[in-house]
Amino acid sequence: MPEYHTSPGTRDILAPDSTRWRALVDVFARVVERAGFGQIIPPMFEDLGVFLRLGEATDIVTKEMYDFEDKGGRRVALRPEMTAGVVRAFVQHRPLLPWKAWYAGPNFRYEKAQQGRYRQFDQVGVEVLGVDDPNLDAEVIALAWEFYGQLGLRQVRLVMNSLGEPEDRARYVDALRDYFTRNEDALTPESRQTLLRNPLRVLDSKREHDAAVVAGAPVIADFYSESAAAHFATVLAGLDRLGIPYEVRPSLVRGLDYYRKTTFEFVGAALEASQNAVGGGGRYDGLAEDLGGPATPGIGFALGVDRTLLECDAEGVFDAPSRNVSVFVVDVTGGQEALSITHDLRGAAISCDRAYEGRSMKSQMKAADRSGAGYALIIGGDELANGTVTLRPLAGQAGDDRTQISIPRTDLIPTLKRVLPS
Ligand code: ATP
Ligand code: MG
Repeated sequence: MPEYHTSPGTRDILAPDSTRWRALVDVFARVVERAGFGQIIPPMFEDLGVFLRLGEATDIVTKEMYDFEDKGGRRVALRPEMTAGVVRAFVQHRPLLPWKAWYAGPNFRYEKAQQGRYRQFDQVGVEVLGVDDPNLDAEVIALAWEFYGQLGLRQVRLVMNSLGEPEDRARYVDALRDYFTRNEDALTPESRQTLLRNPLRVLDSKREHDAAVVAGAPVIADFYSESAAAHFATVLAGLDRLGIPYEVRPSLVRGLDYYRKTTFEFVGAALEASQNAVGGGGRYDGLAEDLGGPATPGIGFALGVDRTLLECDAEGVFDAPSRNVSVFVVDVTGGQEALSITHDLRGAAISCDRAYEGRSMKSQMKAADRSGAGYALIIGGDELANGTVTLRPLAGQAGDDRTQISIPRTDLIPTLKRVLPS
């Protein structure tokens, strides 16, 4: 029989990594629910049209989409990101404004797989619909900042920019197109291709050969309308007020077409420059309308779970929480005692595990040590006859008292509750 492995760009996440994964989502949920966000669990695939709104010229749509026709002849796609689906949900359900939603889950993009870049990757994020107040932009950014701080990360940097109002952005794109076309000879062939589709994305080029031309390009700040400039100034003032450091980078344009005004990215210290963005977001004031809803301002961010954990590794923070059981039951009388004792302990919220298949005492004690449990609970012939169990501290136990004690079966749960760390 063939042995199957994961497809390129996908991974199995096993314990203890999965425990850490869930802990990260828990930290995120705590941070954002404290700020009034409720969770949305949207479907993993949608009508292709929902994602086409990301911009027909973006890589996500032209190159990376997992789209197909289902058995009913519908054009659907696995979601490449969450914002479009969340805004589609907003248009469909019309919740009260402001609507604050958070999410966690996988996305799918057909990318060149490498460390920190996968074809299935997870994000946590938030979206807020219905508020144009620049103070909200600062608040939302502060939530991501708080989340990184709670994980213990200290080397994540915040990069800020504004893309102006749609008209500012349009005038800017024209100016960029002119500029890059005039300097086309100095661009790499890849960037010349990008220029035809989306001049903004040329600014994103990470190729060294493009650096000089990109450095001399017009800057968006010179194209801001008064209202866009004022909005951005208030956002930055808000970040100052909260003591959140940032760098303004006029070349930060981000991948998706729907961004307006505030855009930002969180950059980690751990990964190579081509994928060191641990998260990003911005305003998308036109998206609800593009998806058939009423004109509604929106802002949000998405943070890459995989890359955030790589950053945690690099900074040596946020270890996997221990998932060792407290007690390991060693039963050398056939295994029925272990069956009922583990059942009772779990019912009393005491975590425990056991060995199976009637192994020898020696082999079961080895398993007990390997389990990381603080105590072995031993049932042999004598214990069975006396109605007792023997409680033996293991190496996993804090403190060095290794004296074993005999406990009447009837006192087992209260005794364990006393000796186990709560
Ligand atoms: P990049 O420029 O690295 O491709 P992006 O701009 O495409 O990132 P977004 O669409 O803004 O990324 O998604 C937000 C976050 O999701 C990114 O900052 C990153 O942490 C994560 N992310 C995006 N694509 C991937 C991927 N293929 N694998 C792992 N994480 C990803
Ligand atoms: Mg990308």
